Amino acid sequence: GVERNKPHFVLLSSPGTGHLIPILELGKRLVTHHDAAVTIFVVSSHSSQAETELTTDAAGPGGGELFNVVKIPPPDDLSAAIDPAATMVTRLFLVMREVRPTIRSGLISLPVRPAGLIVDLFGTESFEIAAELGMAKYLLSTSNAWFTALAIHSPVLDGEVEGEYVDQKEPLEIPGCRSIRPDEVVDPMLDRKNRQYLEYIRTGLEFRKADGILINTWEDLEPTTLSALRNDELFGRRVIEGDVLAIGPLVRPVEPNHSTQTINEPLFSWLDKQPNASVVYVCFGSGGTLSIEQQTELAWGLELSKQRFIWVVRQPTAESRYSAFFTSGNSGTDDGGATAELGLGSITGHSYGLPDGFLERTRHVGFVVPDWAPQAEILGHVAVGGFLCHGGWNSALESVRSGVPMMVWPLYAEQRLNATLLAEELRLAARTETAPWRGVVGREEVEGMVGEVMTGEKGEGIRERVKVAQRSGEMAVERGSGSSYTALDMVVSKFRRGTA
Ligand code: UDP
Repeated sequence: GVERNKPHFVLLSSPGTGHLIPILELGKRLVTHHDAAVTIFVVSSHSSQAETELTTDAAGPGGGELFNVVKIPPPDDLSAAIDPAATMVTRLFLVMREVRPTIRSGLISLPVRPAGLIVDLFGTESFEIAAELGMAKYLLSTSNAWFTALAIHSPVLDGEVEGEYVDQKEPLEIPGCRSIRPDEVVDPMLDRKNRQYLEYIRTGLEFRKADGILINTWEDLEPTTLSALRNDELFGRRVIEGDVLAIGPLVRPVEPNHSTQTINEPLFSWLDKQPNASVVYVCFGSGGTLSIEQQTELAWGLELSKQRFIWVVRQPTAESRYSAFFTSGNSGTDDGGATAELGLGSITGHSYGLPDGFLERTRHVGFVVPDWAPQAEILGHVAVGGFLCHGGWNSALESVRSGVPMMVWPLYAEQRLNATLLAEELRLAARTETAPWRGVVGREEVEGMVGEVMTGEKGEGIRERVKVAQRSGEMAVERGSGSSYTALDMVVSKFRRGTA
């Protein structure tokens, strides 16, 4: 139950593991480091097994003692109300719009009116409920500061730029920040006539209504962009201290008992036998999929690299993209009837578009996992020495937390931006010459990149920088002294007894 003398925050998570994970971690942080009371409203998509497990875990032993989780079902008739061609982003915005009455009555029914409402990117339309109920309103930006700067500046770009962003000849300028190459804009900016673009621009405007923007980054990681965000011109209103707060890294902890669970046991006992930093872990987030051709090239590239690997394999799709959740409002595990068992025995190469004989030839060096793997624990294992990932921000932070060099292969959402930030600005990752969202990355390129990161000089440099970032991330969240600790404590302190 909520103690009356603690500042109480309600955190609202939109559907999707990538949103739920940082919201849950923020909830834990608020309770354990800042002595706040927390209630988490989780809007579920009914479609993701992982999401269900995360919320159940959070509400169950351990989590349940920290905060209450209130599940908010998505509206039943949404699929009838929207265009079947609507993108996943549009659907997320619509779901979050439709559930507002439930959120409002949920807030009203709490025994004590909470001090603040914290929403993610898709939840900003609930700010008006917070305002009505006299609660402070905060945005948790679950990605980095550069992404946040683009989002807040996009209403301005909308007025200034003519034609499609991707057709511009010059990079897009954001005051005080690294400029953005036209074809690296976030998905909603790819087509200005699409409904998701309008929703995205509206959200950018709503950022300015927040009493504070919390960003899943830290001062030492993105100092220039954070200071640019604190500029009135970029923010779009007068900025005062506490408006832009770097509070990360918020990352899921490595669960010590995960590797002993029966389902994961074969994977971890295989990992235990591999030399330190010798295994490449390959996974494209909660829903990334590759085209058949790309899947084949990646398989060949891994095999030719002669490195050990763990590959979370998904059923290939017509094109490389995001496919796994919230598509037609149903199951996220409907691709091809793969069994959720781990290990080579449970899939056949044919069903996953892998080259003939691939599984047999790589049997001694590779471990193929269908659909979903315990990522945080895999990255935390000493045998893992590289992460071929899509550049999703949670994945990137998990890699940094475990000191693992990345190879970044962006597919959707804001991953093209993340890839540039990680590979070119922070130099914590390698990336391919070929842009994976435009063409097929060939096997030689995969082989070269993997070899370079796992055994080459470039990999050495990346590894050193990742270790530095790992340490600086740990220091940022250090209780009492870290920059992220101090920033979040500023939010909570405002509402402590006697100071509010
Ligand atoms: N994840 C996992 N196992 C998988 C795939 C993903 O545990 O097989 C987790 C991963 O650890 C991360 C999250 O799902 O915490 C994915 O978030 P991210 O922001 O990287 O990408 P998104 O899924 O939002 O594109």
